[in-house]
Amino acid sequence: MLLISDIKLKIHEEDRLQEKIEKILNHPIRSFTIRKRSLDARKEPVYVYSVAVDVEHEERYLKKKGISFYRKKDLKAEYKERNETCIIAGYGPSGIFSAWRLIEAGYHVTVFEKGKRIKEREADVKRFFEEGILDEDSNVQFGEGGAGTFSDAKLTTRLKDPYIDFILDLLVEHGGNESIRYEHHAHIGTDQIRKIIAAITDDLIEKGCEFHFSEEITDLELDEERHVRAVITKQGRYQCDHFLLGIGHSAHATFEMLKRKDVYMEKKDIAVGFRVEHPQSLIDERQTGNKIEAANEYFLTHKDTKGVYSFCMCPGGIVVPAMSEKQTVVTNGMSYAARDSGTANSAILIQVKQEEFSDGFEYLKQIEKKAYEYSSSYQALSQNIGDYMNGELHPLHFTSTYPLKTVLYDFNELFTEEENEILKRAFFDFDRKIPGFIEKGIMVGPETRSSCPVRIVRNEKMESVNTPKLYPMGEGAGYGGGIVSCALDGIRIANAIISEYEQIQK
Ligand SMILES: Cc1cc2nc3c(=O)[nH]c(=O)nc-3n(C[C@H](O)[C@H](O)[C@H](O)COP(=O)(O)OP(=O)(O)OC[C@H]3O[C@@H](n4cnc5c(N)ncnc54)[C@H](O)[C@@H]3O)c2cc1C
Repeated sequence: MLLISDIKLKIHEEDRLQEKIEKILNHPIRSFTIRKRSLDARKEPVYVYSVAVDVEHEERYLKKKGISFYRKKDLKAEYKERNETCIIAGYGPSGIFSAWRLIEAGYHVTVFEKGKRIKEREADVKRFFEEGILDEDSNVQFGEGGAGTFSDAKLTTRLKDPYIDFILDLLVEHGGNESIRYEHHAHIGTDQIRKIIAAITDDLIEKGCEFHFSEEITDLELDEERHVRAVITKQGRYQCDHFLLGIGHSAHATFEMLKRKDVYMEKKDIAVGFRVEHPQSLIDERQTGNKIEAANEYFLTHKDTKGVYSFCMCPGGIVVPAMSEKQTVVTNGMSYAARDSGTANSAILIQVKQEEFSDGFEYLKQIEKKAYEYSSSYQALSQNIGDYMNGELHPLHFTSTYPLKTVLYDFNELFTEEENEILKRAFFDFDRKIPGFIEKGIMVGPETRSSCPVRIVRNEKMESVNTPKLYPMGEGAGYGGGIVSCALDGIRIANAIISEYEQIQK
């Protein structure tokens, strides 16, 4: 196969791709698959493709610019009968993909997930969004699929890794749209990712993976050398050879348990902020001049004494209540596959250095509680961006998409004077890049759960540095952020376990 890069086609001319490839090679081809597609809307919008092409005498074309050999790696794990048991805590992306890999390799795998399966979880989340009744074990953060289930399910990552194809293939094999394999900024949407995850779970069950939903791991049994020997839940004690910890960043009780067990953790920097919402048409006008029918994204950064950046942008999405604890307020964003709410939202976050807090979880909780106390409810805080700049309060330019209503609040009260100055400079900067950003936008918050305030440090064997056979993974361990990077981290952990086993067998 050949890889041909940088093939440009006008929008709506996608069906001419084969013709274009044959023109470049000046030869008929057998078949092709799209490897990457991105939109370049700087002038007249064009799609830029990379394609894998099956053509005879491929070596003849290698001297041409932008053409190289292409071989897709077979990354399937080799199956062997293995007697070891792996227990996985948490069924988010890191849990899902580590489970898949370990089952594929022949291990006994048991997954414990404190939340419920998707159908029941959907009902709990709906009840919260409509009636404000929060289930602390079944919500936007917790349950089958983890934190990314009620999300935009963007698959963006800056990482380059052959296992990304493995992840995308698995998503497509379980119902994902073929285009996620190649779209530059692919997203699945909450409606689709829920079906895909449920299908992966069913498949894992079929392959022999054991699941314990609504069962939280509350304690660990360590031997004299601190090896994890068993996990404890309210329902029982379960022995294991390997314990994979993929609990995300919001399971505070589990982090408390890890502290009690002296599992080594280090503080790390975090970020706090709020969501901003704008009419989607404002973003589309700026990004593509409305020349293509799609809800567009933006990525904004502002360099200052502390960095400010946009995060987890959800075009055509809604702002969601993402708290997992009662009497707190936390925002995040999600979109359906169609991205058609008409409103764009994104987090705007400011960096908080680890020197600024002693306990990061407590630092974030104080902000979440302050927001709840102000509204005495799960209503989010809100303000027009222009009013924030002037320290004023006027009715919002438009109603926020946040389902539990919002209450007017001066965000100048939430941040320090220094943070407010930096955030305001950032807003001026963003307004230069997207004119109307200040005048047309509203703020809804607070947003506090963008990353974990600690790292559960690993050694070269991917185990906790002071607790052998405990493998911290994903966002809660501080080794991932986002669906794809956490899925990759789960695969990395599984591969470490598989290769250690194989070395022992030699
Ligand atoms: C609303 C929202 C929107 C998002 N949108 C995107 C997006 O569009 N794209 C993207 O890349 N990322 C997005 N993210 C971030 C992404 O979801 C996370 O980075 C990712 O899910 C982290 O994966 P993980 O496997 O580390 O943990 P998580 O997905 O957080 O899963 C951890 C799981 O562990 C369970 N658990 C915790 N403690 C225990 C215990 N003691 N016993 C048993 N189970 C336990 C929890 O119930 C949870 O289900 C979003 C997050 C949220 C909240």
